[in-house]
Amino acid sequence: MLIGSYSPALVLISLCVAILASYTALDLTGRIATAKGRAVYLWMCGGALAMGSGVWSMHFIGMLAFSLPIDLGYDLTLTLVSLLIAVLSSGFALWLINQPSLPLLQLACGALIMGTGISSMHYMGMAAMRMQPGIDYDPQLFSASLAIAVCASAAALWIAFRLRRQTPYVRQIRGAAAVLMGIAIVGMHYTGMAAASFPGGSYCGALGTGLKGDGLVYLVLITTLAVLAVALLTSVLDARLVARTTELARSLTLANQELTQLTQHDILTGLPNRTLLADRIEQAIGKAGEQGTCFALMFIDLDGFKPVNDAFGHHVGDQLLKAVAERLRGHLHSQDTLARIGGDEFVLLVELQEPGDAMGVAIKQVNLVSRPYRVAEHDLQLTASIGIVLYPGNGMDQHELLRNADAAMYHAKNAGKNGYSFFDVSMNSDARQQLQLLQDLRVALQQGQFRLHYQPKFDAVRRVPIGAEALLRWEHPQHGLLYPDRFISLAEKTGLIIPIGEWVLGEACRQMRQWLEQGHEDWRIAVNLSAIQFCYAGLVDGVAQALQRNQLPANHLTLEITETTAMRDADASLLVLQRLSDMGVDISIDDFGTGYSSLMYLKRLPANELKIDRGFVRDLEHDSDDAAIVSAIVALGQALGLRIVAEGVETDSQQDFLTRLGCDSLQGYLMGRPVPAEHFMAGLAPREAPRVS
Ligand code: C2E
Ligand code: CA
Ligand code: CA
Repeated sequence: MLIGSYSPALVLISLCVAILASYTALDLTGRIATAKGRAVYLWMCGGALAMGSGVWSMHFIGMLAFSLPIDLGYDLTLTLVSLLIAVLSSGFALWLINQPSLPLLQLACGALIMGTGISSMHYMGMAAMRMQPGIDYDPQLFSASLAIAVCASAAALWIAFRLRRQTPYVRQIRGAAAVLMGIAIVGMHYTGMAAASFPGGSYCGALGTGLKGDGLVYLVLITTLAVLAVALLTSVLDARLVARTTELARSLTLANQELTQLTQHDILTGLPNRTLLADRIEQAIGKAGEQGTCFALMFIDLDGFKPVNDAFGHHVGDQLLKAVAERLRGHLHSQDTLARIGGDEFVLLVELQEPGDAMGVAIKQVNLVSRPYRVAEHDLQLTASIGIVLYPGNGMDQHELLRNADAAMYHAKNAGKNGYSFFDVSMNSDARQQLQLLQDLRVALQQGQFRLHYQPKFDAVRRVPIGAEALLRWEHPQHGLLYPDRFISLAEKTGLIIPIGEWVLGEACRQMRQWLEQGHEDWRIAVNLSAIQFCYAGLVDGVAQALQRNQLPANHLTLEITETTAMRDADASLLVLQRLSDMGVDISIDDFGTGYSSLMYLKRLPANELKIDRGFVRDLEHDSDDAAIVSAIVALGQALGLRIVAEGVETDSQQDFLTRLGCDSLQGYLMGRPVPAEHFMAGLAPREAPRVS
């Protein structure tokens, strides 16, 4: 019997090739699992080729590692057939593990087929030596090699099936599995080799015509390594590409989500905006129809937000809005929607167990808003006016519901703010009336329906008239005499206040000119300016023209602007005020104390007069806080060299108190109500001068 021997180096190389081929196979199954369409078949064919040639070359190198005392060669045809068997078995294996599931029976059959394939490859390769006489196989070892082939195939199929999806550490696990599979394949081969024995005097029939020689090892090895490397590299690159594509798709989805977030949410507060709110209302209406539920829509408008924004700037205003949004949102159920639909306007959609629950929610919201805020080192105060509609009942669709909630909100505002109102059909007629009034206002100026009433101002100490404030009235053909609170804001909203304001200025100057001619040379006429007029570019020229047309010296005109108007866009205001002041016109800061009186800013204003708001004067006797505020304002005015005027003086004790505090002039019903010019002189009853003690 011929005794065979092995080259240890080649045995080791065959093991490495087996491991590498296994790893490549596992990696390729991962590719096939994630590929789509035709790519699946391309990967499968390429994979079968790479894996098959890998397994086969392991076997062939194992054969080359074996040597007998005689020379050996390999029949080319049989060798190629063994290669073909290896490729076909590999293809079958790849196909099998890419089935959606791998039940036990299928796994067993697959392992049997693949094990048979590998064994056939091996024994076909042995047959390629064409030994004469034939090789004797030890039946036990032969069966063992078959069993190892089937078991190794089963294990390989199962592992590959489990590892085909991308999971964490998949590369490491595949590596370990590849080592196991490599050892199994090598084990099968060398068991098969051990089963073979070559009778003495055997010779190799393939020696003359077949493959032979030392170079063969390198040729096979290099080709195999090249095939495996190409397969592995392609697989890795493709995996990268797929990962990049997936990442791109993911960021696209993310960008898309961001876009929807942006188009459906308010950027400042992150709350849903009008678009998303509309959607939610439609949903709520749908649900109410189907399930018989009910909901409330609350229109929340902040009172006193504008003055804060004007006085402290948008930055503080924005932070305040955020704080309000956070507070309101903090107390809602997840199914409720709070949206911001405008500057200081929010809408709350709440599902209700029963309609009566709406009131509790509204009260809670009103209370939440009215708690003090601390924003950017400022203590701020706000309130909310809420209009409530219920569904079903107060409207058919979202537009009608929102319109009615808005009307109810205005009702709450008119009723004194810091509260809520439920919608009532009569409120709609309010809105209609408002619209009618607006149409009337558009023609009021041409039709000469405006009047000026004059309220006298008195020197506090001497108690003699020192001029008057012109107050606008509208002689409405149907409604009679209307006061500014009915129409000024309407005129401001529509811009009509500009021509109306010009008329007031001209008319007031004309009247003052007349009084001047009657000898009242120390009188001044005061005219109110609204914020809108103050922002109007033509204001300074308009004032100059009114003075010139009536030949009125500028020092007979006082312009009253409210504190908040003056503080709005402080620098621009300063410029306008400076130009007016340079002209010689007096500037009076009206309603002083109601805004956010900024001392720093006041110092820079070219103002001549502070007018203490009548709110402080009203409660002077009962409210010690108000008394303290008034004396502080007086002290402040005096320190800044400003005249102090108190308005709204209705009682003798108010008059005495204000005089004692140091007010320079007084104005109020006590001394004279606003009256048309023709009654003005008659109303100026001589007032008793204070006793000099
Ligand atoms: P205001 O400038 O603070 O005017 C003083 C208001 O207080 C006037 O109301 C006046 O009638 C009222 N009043 C005067 N003395 C007393 C008093 O002793 N007790 C009480 N309770 N009230 C007193 P009116 O005429 O209704 O004007 C309201 C507001 O309308 C004015 O407030 C002013 O801001 C605005 N306004 C009036 N005329 C014009 C105008 O021509 N142009 C602009 N832009 N606004 C005007
Ligand atoms: Ca005034
Ligand atoms: Ca005032």
